[in-house]
Amino acid sequence: MRFNLKSIIPEHIASMIPYASARDELEGDGSVFLDANELPQPLPDMPMDVNRYPGEQPNRLKKKLSAVKGVQAGSIFLGNGSDEIIDMLMRCFSRPGQDQVMVFPPTFGMYGVRARVNNLEVIPHNLDGDFRINAREALNKAGPDTRLIFVCHPNNPTGNAQNTETIQELLAHFNGIVVVDEAYIDFCPEKSVLPLLKEYPNLVVLQTFSKAYGLAGARVGVAYASSDIIRVLEKVSFPYNLGTPAIRLAEKALDSHAIFRMNVESIRASRDQLAGIIPSLPSAIKVYPSVANFLLVKVSDADALYRHLAHSGVIVRNRSKEPGCQGCLRITTGTAEENQLLIEAWKAFGSAKVLQPGVAGAARATTQPEAEEMQANTTGKVPVREATIQRSTAETSITVRIRLDGHGYANISTGIPFYDHMLEQIARHGMMDLEVDARGDLEVDPHHTMEDTAISIGMAFRKALGNKKGIDRYGFELPMDDSRAKVLIDLGGRSFFKWDVSFSASAIGHVPSTLFQHFFRSFADATACNLHVEATGEDDHHKVEAVFKAFARALKMAVARNDSATLPSTKGLL
Ligand code: PMP
Repeated sequence: MRFNLKSIIPEHIASMIPYASARDELEGDGSVFLDANELPQPLPDMPMDVNRYPGEQPNRLKKKLSAVKGVQAGSIFLGNGSDEIIDMLMRCFSRPGQDQVMVFPPTFGMYGVRARVNNLEVIPHNLDGDFRINAREALNKAGPDTRLIFVCHPNNPTGNAQNTETIQELLAHFNGIVVVDEAYIDFCPEKSVLPLLKEYPNLVVLQTFSKAYGLAGARVGVAYASSDIIRVLEKVSFPYNLGTPAIRLAEKALDSHAIFRMNVESIRASRDQLAGIIPSLPSAIKVYPSVANFLLVKVSDADALYRHLAHSGVIVRNRSKEPGCQGCLRITTGTAEENQLLIEAWKAFGSAKVLQPGVAGAARATTQPEAEEMQANTTGKVPVREATIQRSTAETSITVRIRLDGHGYANISTGIPFYDHMLEQIARHGMMDLEVDARGDLEVDPHHTMEDTAISIGMAFRKALGNKKGIDRYGFELPMDDSRAKVLIDLGGRSFFKWDVSFSASAIGHVPSTLFQHFFRSFADATACNLHVEATGEDDHHKVEAVFKAFARALKMAVARNDSATLPSTKGLL
C-alpha cells in the first residue's frame, strides 16, 4: 500500500487560502513596527516583550528542538499542548461526518473526545491482555475512510510501550497517518520512534513539554513529521498559537539538561520504589510494569480505595471503567513526600485510622511553608529538606540537588574523577542524596570547577536547611587508618573557616592539594557555617578521604533532627 498525502487532505483544506499575519507579509527589515496594532511600549515589570506578537520566536524554539532531537526544523510543528495538535491532525486530515479514526483502548481519552468534536467516527480496537496492539487485526478493521490511527506509546493509562515492529507494521500497511503519541517518552527515550521518520512518510510523532520537562502549565506540545505534513498543519494553525512566555519557558527547559536528567532519573527511581511497596498495601492485587511516570494498579475495590484516598487528600485517577482496566487506579509518581502520604493513607484503608481530610486540597490554598507545616502536623511527618541550585558563571555551569534526609545516593559528574570520589563520600557518609552536574573550564585547571561546585553545594545545603528549626546544629567526627580527621561544624549562620591539614604531595588524584582547602572554605562561605578541619596522617589520599568522610559525618550530625520544633539558638535567630 502506498501512502499518498494529497489523497487524505480534505478538499476544503486543500483549496483554502491560509491567513497571513502582518509578520508573514513582512518585506525588508524595518525597525518601526506599525503593522500589527500592538501596544508600542513594553509593559512595566514584565520580563518579556509581550506587547509584541511572538514573531520569530517559535522558529528559535524549533531550532533548539532540532539540535536536541536531530530532526530538521522544517519537520517540527509546535502546538498549544499536544492536545491541540491531536485536534489539528483530525481537522487537517479527515472529513467531518465521513471519516474515522482508530484508537486502542484503554488509552488516552482525548483522541475520542476530539474525534467527536470533529464529527469523526471512532473505531476502537482493544489492546490485548498484555496491553499490546495486534497490528494485523487493527489493519483488517481499518476501512478506506479511516484516516488516522492513534498509538499512545508509552500508553496512558497502562504505562507500557509498544514494540517498534508493531508500529512499523501499522506504518507500512496503513494508507492514512499513524500518530505515535510519545507524551511520556522522556522517561524511556530509547523507545522513541523518531528515527522512523526518515523511513515512513505517514508517521507523526507527538511529544510534549508537559511531563518530564515540567511545563504542563505552559502548554507546549510538539509534532514531528515530514515537512509536507507540517506544512498542512501550519496552513490550518492559528498564526500565533503559542505565546511568548510559553516559548521562552520551553527554551529554558531545553537548556536545563542537568535538571531534566536528574528529574527523569529521580522519578524513575521513585516509580520503581512505589511499585515495590504497593503490592504489600491493603487491597492491592497487581502493579503493571510501567516505563512512564505513573503506575496502573489493580486493587480489589478500586472505587472504595479511590474515595478513601481522596478523603485523605490524595487524588489518584480511577480508571476502573476503562476496557481492560477493571479494578484499576492510575497513580502518578509524586515527590518522595507525596508518595509517602499516599502510602500512609493507603495503609489506613479498611481500618478505622484515616488521615485528616483535605490535606492536599488545603495545601494548595496556602503558602509553601504553611503547607509544609500543615502536612507535618497532620501526618506527623516533617517536610522534606531538599534544594536544587543552578549556577552559571563565565567559567562554570553547575547544577546541584541535595536532599538532607536521603539514603546516601550520589550521582556526581564534575569531570575530575578524584573530586567526584570525594563528593561521593559526602553523600554516602552523610546519608544525604547528592547530585552534581558540573561543567567547567577544566582545560584551564580544576580550580574554577572545584570552587564553584563547593559554592553551589553550600548554597543548596543552606537552602535545604530552610528555617533550621529542630536541627542539632553542631557536629564533629574522628576517623580513619593511619590518618585522623576531625571536622567541627556549626550551622549557626556565621561563616568562619579554620584549616589545619597539610599534604606532602602537590597533587592528590591529579587535583592540586591546595584546592581541597579551597573547597571547604568556599562551602563554609556559601553555607554560612563555622567549619574547623584538622587532619594528621601519612598518606595524603587517606588524609583527604578521611577529611571528606569526617565532614560528611559532621554534616549528618549537624542536620539531624531532634524532637523539638525550636531553633537551637538563644538568640532566636540562625
Ligand atoms: N498525550 C497523552 C498520552 C497524555 O497523557 C497527555 C496528557 N495527559 C497528553 C497527550 C496531553 O499533553 P499536553 O499537555 O501536551 O496537551
